[in-house]
Amino acid sequence: MTRNLKSPALVLKVNPVGENHRGLSMLVRGEGLLRPLAYGAQGKRSTLRASALPYNRGIADLHFDGAKNSWRLVSFDVQDSHEGLREDLDRFYTAATWAEILLKTHGAGGDSAALFDMASSAFSLLSVSTSGNFKRLHLGFLWKFLEIEGVQPDPEHCGQCGRALQIGGAEGPARFLPNGLLVGPECSESRWPVLPDGGRRWLRAISGKPLDSAVKIGLAPAAVNAAENWLLTIIQTLLERPLRSVNK
Ligand SMILES: [Zn+2]
Repeated sequence: MTRNLKSPALVLKVNPVGENHRGLSMLVRGEGLLRPLAYGAQGKRSTLRASALPYNRGIADLHFDGAKNSWRLVSFDVQDSHEGLREDLDRFYTAATWAEILLKTHGAGGDSAALFDMASSAFSLLSVSTSGNFKRLHLGFLWKFLEIEGVQPDPEHCGQCGRALQIGGAEGPARFLPNGLLVGPECSESRWPVLPDGGRRWLRAISGKPLDSAVKIGLAPAAVNAAENWLLTIIQTLLERPLRSVNK
C-alpha cells in the first residue's frame, strides 16, 4: 500500500542518515508523530537541505511506501522557521524540552490535530517571546499538553482526600509529592514542595484560553517556577523517566 499525504507539520528532530540523507521526527497534524526519511537532504542541491531542520513548521508532502513500511519526506514548504529560537539560549532550551516531551509521548494518539495546533502556536509565540513572558508560555504549554493528553490534574482538590483546596487558607498552601500528586495541608508533609495558591489560580484561569491570551495573564516568578516544577514532575512521572533537557 502506498499513500500520499500533504499536511501541516513541525520538525522536532533531525539525524543524519549516511552521508546524504536525514531521518526526521515530525509532528504531523492529524497523524501524530511520523519519522520520515528525507532522501538526499544533505546534498548541496537539495531543497530539503535548508527546510528539513529542527523546529521548522510548514506543509509537508509525505509519501508512505507500504512495502518498506516507511515514510519519505518529498518536499517541505516552510511557513515559519522560528528564527527567534536560535537567537536566545533560554528560548532554545525551552523548545528542546517541548520537543523532547512531544517525542517521548509519541505526539498524542488521541487528538493529534489539537496537539499540533497547540504546539505550533507555542513554538511561534516562543520564537518572539520576551524574557518577561517566556516562562509563563512554558507553563502554559505544559498545562495544555496535559489537558490534550487527557491527564491534566485537578488543581482545586486534594489528590489524597478530595477536600477542596483553599486560597489563602490558614493551614497553609497545597504541596506536591515526589510523584506529582497535589495535596492539601491536611494531607501533606512540610518537606514537600509548595505550590502557591497563585499558581493554581493561574492554571485555572488559562484553562480554555488560547496560549497567546494565556501568557498575558501575570503571575509572580516564584509561583511560575513552583508550578513549572509541579508540571514537570507530573510529566516525568507519566514518562516513567527523567527528561534529559530538564535534568542537565
Ligand atoms: Zn487531603
